[in-house]
Amino acid sequence: MDMVDTQRASYKLLIDGKWTDAASGQTIEVISPSNGQPFAAVARGGAEDIDRAVKSARKALAGPWSRLSATERGRILTKMAGIILERAEELAQLEARDNGKPLTQARADMQVTARYFEFYGAAADKVHGQVIPFLDGYTVTVLREPYGVTGHIIPWNYPAQMFGRTMAPALAMGNTCVMKPAEDACLSSLEIARIAMDAGMPPGVVNIVSGYGEEAGAALAAHRDINLLSFTGSSEVGTLVQQAAAKNHVPCVLELGGKSPQVIFADADLEKALPVVVKAIIQNAGQTCSAGARLLLDVSIYEQFVAQVAERFKQLKVGTHDMDLDVGPVINLQQKNRVERFIKQAQESRVPLLAEGSFAANLPAGGFFVKPALFGPVPRDHSLACDEVFGPVLSALPFKDEQDAVELANATDYGLVGAVWTRDGGRQQRVSKAMRCGQVFINCYGAGGGVELPFGGMKKSGHGREKGFLALEHLSTTKTVVNFHG
Ligand code: NAP
Ligand code: MG
Repeated sequence: MDMVDTQRASYKLLIDGKWTDAASGQTIEVISPSNGQPFAAVARGGAEDIDRAVKSARKALAGPWSRLSATERGRILTKMAGIILERAEELAQLEARDNGKPLTQARADMQVTARYFEFYGAAADKVHGQVIPFLDGYTVTVLREPYGVTGHIIPWNYPAQMFGRTMAPALAMGNTCVMKPAEDACLSSLEIARIAMDAGMPPGVVNIVSGYGEEAGAALAAHRDINLLSFTGSSEVGTLVQQAAAKNHVPCVLELGGKSPQVIFADADLEKALPVVVKAIIQNAGQTCSAGARLLLDVSIYEQFVAQVAERFKQLKVGTHDMDLDVGPVINLQQKNRVERFIKQAQESRVPLLAEGSFAANLPAGGFFVKPALFGPVPRDHSLACDEVFGPVLSALPFKDEQDAVELANATDYGLVGAVWTRDGGRQQRVSKAMRCGQVFINCYGAGGGVELPFGGMKKSGHGREKGFLALEHLSTTKTVVNFHG
């Protein structure tokens, strides 16, 4: 049976290598954020489907998958990377339509997605155990082993990339997986799951159960027979997921929200910083966990630099995914209302709105469009300075010296990413060391960084690490074997 019933453009669940309807028989409409219209449907998976998927993953753990060498597992992932690259344009079109992001950004996402499978495919056989010198007559080895069945819950903002980021290292280490993608954008996840099957993944190793968070997601988080849970999403749901997992003593990797600062000193190369600062907040319509949402400026350059950023903001154009402009729609009506509420509250409390982007002509009436907005100076205790908007809203704040800059950079509950712009080498080191976050960029901004670079949060931004070799450690466990041989 194929994954898509073409008559209804209806996507099914992947469980035990078979495309199947939800036990309830129900589906969820898939909406294009560019016009608010449904264009496909996905199965509405629930607790029963999650249970079937976990059972299939458990069974697969004892099957042919466990007998593959690490090199052979890696080859399947490398093959997936190749197919993703071959189908990159088609996948990018699907992702852009499903999520609303401008096509150019979706194309870039597919290259990154392929990189995850390439990186972890090549890394699969490079994670080695240890031999520990011990007492005379003993040989002690520390084996790296898969956790077993891993559960993965991902958000809608970078679905294909998130699939690669969380699943590729889990598979490289020999786990079997059950994923619950976000109902707002899950088509690329279903397509990549098909690619896994095409690349020779044994049945049951990759299971995908689409559905609502409160149904399928909660059932996965609370399932007694998973061995690790990897969650990417909001801090609030991260708490719920960790509470559910704690009941079964299931460890969690949590990648949560952020309110990341760009700290710019007066000696920085401001010309270089300008386009980077703008891109860091408008990419994916600001719906990026590592968006550079706070612009912290040395008071001596505040007016001058903010005026330049405002000029750039005024030029920003918002359009549908296929218009491929600077900014696409946000994901859904709820998110549009949320961003607009932040903007309205800021205006009500008289935070100066310095600049806005504009809508392209003839936008579809039902699309979820919001204009990028620059506010400043934002009072330090204002919600716009502290809370994650998850939209294209940039808050500018002045600071008076280095110590003040560090305090301000660390002044939110989050700690995902930060950037420091200065030509002073000592200051680069001091400030990056003092920042409480998982990644710091000096005179650049990578919005999350390359696939090789360990990534993850401090404080309310989560714990555990993804990307790079560290992800392989977080998605596997160890067994110490003590052998007395006299
Ligand atoms: P969300 O509401 O937390 O949803 C994330 C995922 O959790 C979705 O698949 C969602 O399903 C599911 N979910 C919702 N309620 C659940 C529950 N009670 N139990 C189990 N799963 C549940 O987050 P979002 O609004 O989609 O995404 C935005 C947030 O994600 C932002 O805070 C952003 O910063 C964060 N994020 C972080 C990273 C990172 O790497 N640190 C990356 C991307 C995004 P449904 O949506 O289908 O209901
Ligand atoms: Mg959608």
